[in-house]
Amino acid sequence: MSKETNVIEIFSSIQGEGKYVGCRQIFVRFSGCNLRCQYCDTIDSYNKAFYCKVENTAGNRDFIEIENPLSVVEISSRINNLLKLPHHSVSFTGGEPLCQSDFLKDVAKEIKSVKYLETNGTLSKELASIIDDIDIISMDIKLPSFMKQILWREHEEFLKIANKKEVFVKVVVSAETNESEFKTAISLVERINKKITFIIQPITPLNGCCAISPEAVIQFQNLALRSLDDVRVIPQTHKFINQM
Ligand code: SF4
Repeated sequence: MSKETNVIEIFSSIQGEGKYVGCRQIFVRFSGCNLRCQYCDTIDSYNKAFYCKVENTAGNRDFIEIENPLSVVEISSRINNLLKLPHHSVSFTGGEPLCQSDFLKDVAKEIKSVKYLETNGTLSKELASIIDDIDIISMDIKLPSFMKQILWREHEEFLKIANKKEVFVKVVVSAETNESEFKTAISLVERINKKITFIIQPITPLNGCCAISPEAVIQFQNLALRSLDDVRVIPQTHKFINQM
């Protein structure tokens, strides 16, 4: 079992994506990711950070730098310190936090709050190993038009396991998204549980990915509503209000 790991940041902020948009969370951003999405806005997470930036007081942006790697005790005490201000939950994010699932499991056990996992939805064995210690899962479905690989099988295995807990799915869409791949994502969720909240996230243009038209967004929601119970359109709101 790993006892030290590399963390990029620990801070308090406002969730800007998905079903819990607007909720106050503590974000624990792990380094490392097994994917390379075209629209990635956290490429600093691919490599190990020499220092972890840690906020001392929730929301005050009074960061200090602590040398990596960090122990379970160090990380959990920093998180529990920020929890002096009531938060909705603690978000484990990245990168891909499940790349360090052994360590994440140990940290999660020490946290006195709801545990929320933000994941690219591909590492099913790792999810299975920690699912008992996680409360809410925010899972991406990555469409092939953004990737250099097809991930349907990985996503399906992952969602079957995630469905044992509260889970919602996010699908980023851009001008390049095609109807066929979008329908495949809908079918994948429908096969497992049509009640799972399905969030269409219009892309924030980046790295050559272009914004989707308003007409295309509403047509994609029409498509999903024919098969799924709860389909919402939510962009990345933290970028509008300049939050971390
Ligand atoms: S899964 Fe997330 S962190 Fe990894 S490359 Fe894609 S967007 Fe970036």
